[in-house]
Amino acid sequence: MDNSEIYSCRQSAGRYAVSIRNRQEIVSALATFCKDKNIRSGEISGIGAVDKAVLRFFNPQTKQYVDRTFTGQMEIAGLAGNISTLDGEIYLHLHITLGCEDYSAKAGHLLSAVLSGAGEFFITDFGTELKRTFDPDLRLNCYDF
Ligand code: FE
Repeated sequence: MDNSEIYSCRQSAGRYAVSIRNRQEIVSALATFCKDKNIRSGEISGIGAVDKAVLRFFNPQTKQYVDRTFTGQMEIAGLAGNISTLDGEIYLHLHITLGCEDYSAKAGHLLSAVLSGAGEFFITDFGTELKRTFDPDLRLNCYDF
């Protein structure tokens, strides 16, 4: 499948440099890339800029998620995450730190973000499948190995 309107990439050994196109939503673009390359475990890092992001904070006391949307031009100071599978589907666990115009930062679990400028990512394929299952005590999808 040709997803060149979403991203372009170069590969060297087990690593990929991925350039996501401007105005694309990052999380779905990264998931599309992993699906296209059949990457079922690995590591993601990235930098770039966005103008909208939905971040999530998990409160371990209440075991509830709190989601919040941020808008305005923000630098991706750092995106770090991993690739695994849940119920056979590719599952991305991503955290992001966003730098704002006043040099303050917002950070959290990344649900979605829209690129506003460049999006430069490196993805390492771990070369196997790493599964997750839902842990009912923690109420989190945890590694199952
Ligand atoms: Fe998280």
